[in-house]
Amino acid sequence: MAGAPDQRQPGPAAGEQLQQPQVSCQVFPERLAQGNPQQGFFSSFITHNQKCQQMLLKTVETNPYVKLLLDAMKHSGCAVNKERHFSCEDCNGNVSGGFDASTSQIVLCQNNIRNQAHMSRVVTHELIHAFDHCRAHVHWFTNVRHLACSEVRAANLSGDCSLVNEIFRLRFGLKQHHQTCVRDRAILSILAVRNISKEVAEKAVDEVFESCFNDHEPFGRIPHNEKYARYAHRDFQNRDRYYSNI
Ligand SMILES: [Zn+2]
Repeated sequence: MAGAPDQRQPGPAAGEQLQQPQVSCQVFPERLAQGNPQQGFFSSFITHNQKCQQMLLKTVETNPYVKLLLDAMKHSGCAVNKERHFSCEDCNGNVSGGFDASTSQIVLCQNNIRNQAHMSRVVTHELIHAFDHCRAHVHWFTNVRHLACSEVRAANLSGDCSLVNEIFRLRFGLKQHHQTCVRDRAILSILAVRNISKEVAEKAVDEVFESCFNDHEPFGRIPHNEKYARYAHRDFQNRDRYYSNI
């Protein structure tokens, strides 16, 4: 993220809501005014913040999706610094996280991230946006198809639509459940950060779906669970070694 050179515009590239009901948390330029830590030693903010930092540390050190994405960011010249590029904050509504393109920061909503697995999914999802931001000139604000593509990729590759999550959402048995889940979640993510109609969001997602659903970089496959993510990480490291020897 640090190396992404393109023009930054104020505001978020994406805000995520990982649970129903649909809400938005897109007003990131004002986020520094929120969540003032001077609320007393025993305030819930401090507890939430410390817990968020601890979960983030564990995710960064152990989760194979995140480890692969961090390696890929470094490989692309956008090395991620945990202190500089992640921020645990209170967010409005039911939002879990977001990627703030103006500061190249991933916002983790400490009041809404429920557990370690949730933290890992949010970090993975947002790192996919950060990866897209690093590798391409993404016009997050002026081209809804760019946002749609990154949301399709994030939903597809982050585990947001893994079978366990889907069963949890009582959608088991739906035909092509993975693709359907990816499409639905991409549309919801766009609607959470853009004041556009559902029809416009659906059209944008449908226009980019095939190419972006089949773009599995940097995983090289859809990592349906942690085991596949570990394989993908191993392959990425080998690919890295191969190219560095040419
Ligand atoms: Zn997203």
